[in-house]
Amino acid sequence: MCDRLIEEGHEVLALDTLITGSRRNIEHLLKEQRFEFVEHDVCTPLDVTGDVDRVFHLASLASPVFYLKHPIETLESGSTGTRNMLELAVRRRARFLLTSTSEAYGDPLVHPQAETYWGNVNPVGLRSCYDESKRYAEALTMAYNRVHGVRTNIARIFNTYGPRMALNDGRVVPAFIDQALRGAKLTVFGNGSQTRSFCYVSDLVEGLLRLSESDEREPVNLGNPAEMTILEFAELIRKQLGDEQGIEFRDLPQDDPKKRQPDISKAKRILKWEPGISLEEGLAKTIDYFKERVNAELEAV
Ligand code: UDP
Repeated sequence: MCDRLIEEGHEVLALDTLITGSRRNIEHLLKEQRFEFVEHDVCTPLDVTGDVDRVFHLASLASPVFYLKHPIETLESGSTGTRNMLELAVRRRARFLLTSTSEAYGDPLVHPQAETYWGNVNPVGLRSCYDESKRYAEALTMAYNRVHGVRTNIARIFNTYGPRMALNDGRVVPAFIDQALRGAKLTVFGNGSQTRSFCYVSDLVEGLLRLSESDEREPVNLGNPAEMTILEFAELIRKQLGDEQGIEFRDLPQDDPKKRQPDISKAKRILKWEPGISLEEGLAKTIDYFKERVNAELEAV
């Protein structure tokens, strides 16, 4: 997102606690006059000098591994963090975009998921820290829109992947690539029949920027509708990386959604957006990045 905004000539102030993020990912931008990075928690109020046109609130732990480890921080960035960023947008008369999630649909009973579906969320389960704080964040965003007239957008992001994800992120794309590159077994949770569909990061960024230009205040799904089972995905990774080690089946985590596929008709209609990068192409770029990182790590040992 920062790369795209800088490329387009904007001034960007990026905030991150680096609880899961990495300074390495923005190092190349630090030489840019128009880019500034501040290690800051959105849960602490912030004021900014100069004009502010847009507030993009992307801050959250998003990997189940990390939000299960840091549930309170996850709840806080969705609640207090969203409130602080909305307040900033109101004070500075900026537009506001919230990145919400397909987890708002929980373990969905409707397939594929359209924005009109209200979801099937366990409010007290292990994933509730993420699901419910994002649902609260959506409600808060709508309330600020109605009460303060701030121009808001809500993106519901489905599984997204790409270079610069952490090697230990734990989500299935980085997990399988990392395991295959190290010659370890691919850890498939449950019997692998649960489905997901994977969107390449640059497609998602394009969708977010288009949404931020639109007047649509109700949620819009952004994701790639090409659905597959996790077992099929494991086989694809083994095919691409020649993994000899095979697969290790592990217990399915609590409330792990059994089926997930975005209905992106709304994004197609109002944003003229749909993903353009195939899984093969996106995986090739991601694998190149991971190869470099894993090799650098192995050499350092
Ligand atoms: N998964 C898996 N092995 C892993 C990591 C994830 O089988 O090492 C499965 C997980 O159970 C889920 C799917 O892959 O069904 C996607 O998981 P991820 O953590 O990427 O994101 P989620 O879609 O659950 O938010």
